[in-house]
Amino acid sequence: MTEIILNKLVIIGVGLIGGSFALALRRASLVEHIVGIGRSRENLLRAKELGVIDEIANDLQEALKDADLVLLAVPVGQIGKTIAQISLYLESKTIVTDVGSTKQDVIIAARSFLAHNLRNFVPSHPIAGTELSGVNAANANLFHHKHLILTPLEETSVDAIHYITRLWKSCGARISQMQASQHDEIFATMSHLPHILAFTLMNHVCTIAKGSPSNLLRFAGTSFLDFTRIASSSPEMWRDICLTNQASLLCQIDAYQDELAALRKMLANNDGVTLEKTFSNAQAVRHQWLKDKS
Ligand code: NAD
Repeated sequence: MTEIILNKLVIIGVGLIGGSFALALRRASLVEHIVGIGRSRENLLRAKELGVIDEIANDLQEALKDADLVLLAVPVGQIGKTIAQISLYLESKTIVTDVGSTKQDVIIAARSFLAHNLRNFVPSHPIAGTELSGVNAANANLFHHKHLILTPLEETSVDAIHYITRLWKSCGARISQMQASQHDEIFATMSHLPHILAFTLMNHVCTIAKGSPSNLLRFAGTSFLDFTRIASSSPEMWRDICLTNQASLLCQIDAYQDELAALRKMLANNDGVTLEKTFSNAQAVRHQWLKDKS
């Protein structure tokens, strides 16, 4: 039988990621009692109905009493405020982790408000998700075979890292560790820029169609659908991610604009040879990536 290692888990922000973490830990029989804290009562009631949480917190201090672990799963723009609020009531034994898509900002907030207990703070980021939000989208398999990145501080204790690693492994995730700055640079390229491109393409269609996008969208094929899937993601979440990773993202946008400008020049010059070479290069890189992945 699996040993319960979490008597009390408090999840702040019981949406797609927080809810999926709860469901995966429940399935692994590692958690006894889950308390949910959130902004929307309706979402929390639904979380209880779905069996994602056992209890809806009415009072933060009471919720944090005897907690083994607090998971911060709110949009990144809310994490600093949330850390400040919980810091008033956290017990010294409680481990705190987050799932924010950017890491340097979360660490700055932790240094400001959890300075007395950084040994128990383990920043993390599951590289898993969908374009859906809220607890209705939560799914126990979400993290299965997905990367989970830890960006511990120098002060984070080895025990706290092992504890969080064990929990994420039980959700099926593959764990890696890196510096928060490296994380934010990598994900500006691999996640944040692609989301900006998808949102921008949808807006571009709207502009070209002079505000009547359905005139064009009824002709969309699978390629358009695939490319823009992530433009269905939460605008609040993506506003926060863009603003918190502003510097890296600005560099990515500039570099991408250079690539587009180069491609525009090939096209304007009727330079089919270079155009084909450019597409061949992209195709080869993608083929190799898919081969390595399988
Ligand atoms: P979500 O919208 O599904 O869930 C967020 C929940 O937080 C909602 O229930 C919302 O009501 C609640 N909330 C918002 N502000 C709050 C506050 N101040 N106090 C308490 N609750 C509050 O979003 P999600 O996709 O689960 O994302 C949560 C976090 O995980 C974000 O930081 C995001 O960057 C990160 N993340 C998301 C993905 C993804 O693909 N969706 C992947 C990895 C990490």
